[in-house]
Amino acid sequence: MKILKTVSEVKEQVKTWRKEGLTIGLVPTMGWLHEGHLSLIKKARENNDRVVVSDFVNPMQFGPGEDFDSYPRDLNRDAGLCEKAGVDVIFAPEVSEMYPEGFCSYVDMNGLTGGLCGKSRPIHFRGVQTVVNKLFNIVTPDNAYFGEKDAQQLAVIKRMVVDLNMNVKINGCPIIREADGLAKSSRNSYLTPEERSLAPIINKAMTMGRQMIIDGERNSQKVIEAISEVILSVGVTKIDYVSIVDSLSLEPVETIEKDILCACAVYMGNSARLIDNFSLEI
Ligand code: AMP
Repeated sequence: MKILKTVSEVKEQVKTWRKEGLTIGLVPTMGWLHEGHLSLIKKARENNDRVVVSDFVNPMQFGPGEDFDSYPRDLNRDAGLCEKAGVDVIFAPEVSEMYPEGFCSYVDMNGLTGGLCGKSRPIHFRGVQTVVNKLFNIVTPDNAYFGEKDAQQLAVIKRMVVDLNMNVKINGCPIIREADGLAKSSRNSYLTPEERSLAPIINKAMTMGRQMIIDGERNSQKVIEAISEVILSVGVTKIDYVSIVDSLSLEPVETIEKDILCACAVYMGNSARLIDNFSLEI
């Protein structure tokens, strides 16, 4: 396994692979890898000749006052996990390599990004789209792997690839959870022991909401209120949003009559903003 730091090194490597007729799978990450990331890597490993993992905390997707500085970073630890998982190349650039002086181009969209996480993180998806575009241009993957945990991100990337005629297949991968149901996340490391013990309430509430819909509830507001009540019952939580949206347009739905995404973002104390979601085919 190689750890490459520059765009030109990756492009050289990709050129060699292409000459050999090999397929490439890309797993974009911000590092501090856990089993969620590893499930994406496993899928990539199964379906491509070569696997590239990008390990880059992308400043462009963090707003002012967000956790860019405190985001956990440990390339050595990540490299050990990647090596074991059969990764061929880790691309771990410095910020100055990705955004050299004079950088001023962006990729953005008008739809899909206004609600859910986009409401409280207005520049987030512009940063995600821009960095993912750069990664696609650098690595030219046949396949790229994204987690359903970041459901809005997955929808945005899928839309972008269709809208901009990009030659990459986007593969969504299921949410990997802790034994107590908490969705695995690099940000779980921010939780105090007390917050960690309370955090599974998010998934418990979402599972209850899911069951309400399966049992026939079609009024979104009723489901949202029930989920919110359970989440707020533990005290240290503050809700950013609980929303039920059309799974394609991500527009809120009042009555649940088509496939939906139910998503939430919850602040645990002062330390972490955690997200979770489920999709249902109606
Ligand atoms: P991140 O490093 O948090 O930017 O995540 C990199 C990729 O891993 C994204 O596509 C995430 O959706 C995915 N991911 C993160 N956590 C999980 C999880 N618990 N289950 C599945 N995929 C995940």
